[in-house]
Amino acid sequence: MSVNISEIKSAPGLAKELHLSLEGPFEGLQLDGPVSADLEIMSGSDGTVSVRGSIKARVILMCSRCACDYSELLEVSVDELFVPEAEMQEKEEREVGVEDLCVFGYSGDELQLDDLVRDNLIAGLPYRPLCKVDCLGVCPECGQNLNEKKCSCRIAEEETDPRWEALKKFSVEPS
Ligand SMILES: [Zn+2]
Ligand SMILES: [Zn+2]
Repeated sequence: MSVNISEIKSAPGLAKELHLSLEGPFEGLQLDGPVSADLEIMSGSDGTVSVRGSIKARVILMCSRCACDYSELLEVSVDELFVPEAEMQEKEEREVGVEDLCVFGYSGDELQLDDLVRDNLIAGLPYRPLCKVDCLGVCPECGQNLNEKKCSCRIAEEETDPRWEALKKFSVEPS
């Protein structure tokens, strides 16, 4: 998705609001519906263009406990800078690692927003996805998804756990 910035480029300091719906696809993300982006773009007097706002998307993730696929709503805030590509190359020659600055390049009057949207969504993915906070995971013995039903090996284990037997001896007698 690209947006035309000729209007704001000619008026530094003037902000323009964008409300976008992006269908993707975005590499590394499995979308569950379109991405919605509410962004404000503004050009600086030095030719840079700042993009701020928020991006919302439903993505399909794999639960880190039970390995099932589930849909999660991601909401990330965005604060990025676009620099004219000609200037970027110049910078790259002068200082190493311009990539580390998380600066995007643009040329002409068009801003390409796909990389910005993708990078921000990927950065907002949970480190350990969970289908629900109390996901029970899978039984290490038989592989049964314990959210769906209990397996017999787990019940048997709980009933005969010697640690619980030991604790029973410490039950408080009323005095
Ligand atoms: Zn789960
Ligand atoms: Zn089991």
